[in-house]
Amino acid sequence: MEIRITRTRNPKKKPDENSLVFGHDFTDHMFIMNYTQGEGWHDPRVEPYGPLQLDPSTMVFHYAQETFEGLKAYKTDSGDIQLFRAKDNAARLNQSNERMCIPTLDEEDVIQAIATLVKVDQDWIPKAEGTSLYIRPFVIATDPFVGVKASSTYLFMIILSPVGAYYKEGISPVKIYVEDKYVRAVPGGIGFAKTGGNYAASLMAQVEAGKKGYSQVLWLDGIERKYVEEVGTSNVFCRVGNKIYTPPLQGSILSGITRDSAIKLLRSWDIEVIEERFTIEQLFEWHRKGELQEVFATGTAAVISPIGALSWQDNEITINNNEIGQLSQRLYNSITKIQNGQLEDSFSWIT
Ligand code: PMP
Repeated sequence: MEIRITRTRNPKKKPDENSLVFGHDFTDHMFIMNYTQGEGWHDPRVEPYGPLQLDPSTMVFHYAQETFEGLKAYKTDSGDIQLFRAKDNAARLNQSNERMCIPTLDEEDVIQAIATLVKVDQDWIPKAEGTSLYIRPFVIATDPFVGVKASSTYLFMIILSPVGAYYKEGISPVKIYVEDKYVRAVPGGIGFAKTGGNYAASLMAQVEAGKKGYSQVLWLDGIERKYVEEVGTSNVFCRVGNKIYTPPLQGSILSGITRDSAIKLLRSWDIEVIEERFTIEQLFEWHRKGELQEVFATGTAAVISPIGALSWQDNEITINNNEIGQLSQRLYNSITKIQNGQLEDSFSWIT
């Protein structure tokens, strides 16, 4: 597709690379493309970053028909720009679009749009250790209409944000609260889609866990509240002896791209990865028997977050002495080195 580019005449001052706050600063440009019935997706363009003017009745404000993605671009030591697993993010955007009755996008166009915008704003890609350019593609329903139906018009947009390492001191173990009152997703629901409603629904649990001194919640399944599903906005893994367990993708869990990268790397190291449901009771039982060696979460923002403590029904366990596990560290090092171009891209993850 042909993308029209209008450059800003007022470039912003770039933030200090060494004190970047996640999701706080945005670059000079944004990508926009419209959808209208009959014409389909059209008018792809890069414009100066700025506010949108939308009618107060715009459907996304009322019924949350929207989808989004999150991925990162990196600058290598030799100055090349690398996108990590962009094809997988484009495919997942369309899975979310289908579930939310949003017209799908051509996945090649999505990647071209991301690549074009990142090139225009390439001076914004930070180079300091652990930093990257976070890419946020999203689609919103734009019919000016109050009433529940699928919109007939949409905007597909991409914005960019230079981000620092998620944890300033590098990876360090976090404390997690096992949520057994609120649920995130149910079978037949929208848990596998990256759509705002899932995140709005999660806030209450996060706020309450925060008040109790935990950084995130571990979500249990929405029916029996016993099977382990996800941790905050990341997927979860347990190392039991030399086997790795992670919940399977059954519709209520987001199909994390870092999850998939971790599974592929672990299997390439001849480590057995079991994608099967397990209960929170089982996890505590593994701990009681001294078999639970590591628990960690995977996601684009932090890559790997080791879990040092888990609290369930007033019972708190400490995992691996609250230290970074050996596999957590190895996965973190391997994934970040592939992202930065310091390790061979043997899985063809880089664009
Ligand atoms: N689960 C949820 C609910 C998420 O929002 C995310 C972040 N996208 C993940 C898991 C991890 O996915 P990824 O590895 O693709 O970032």
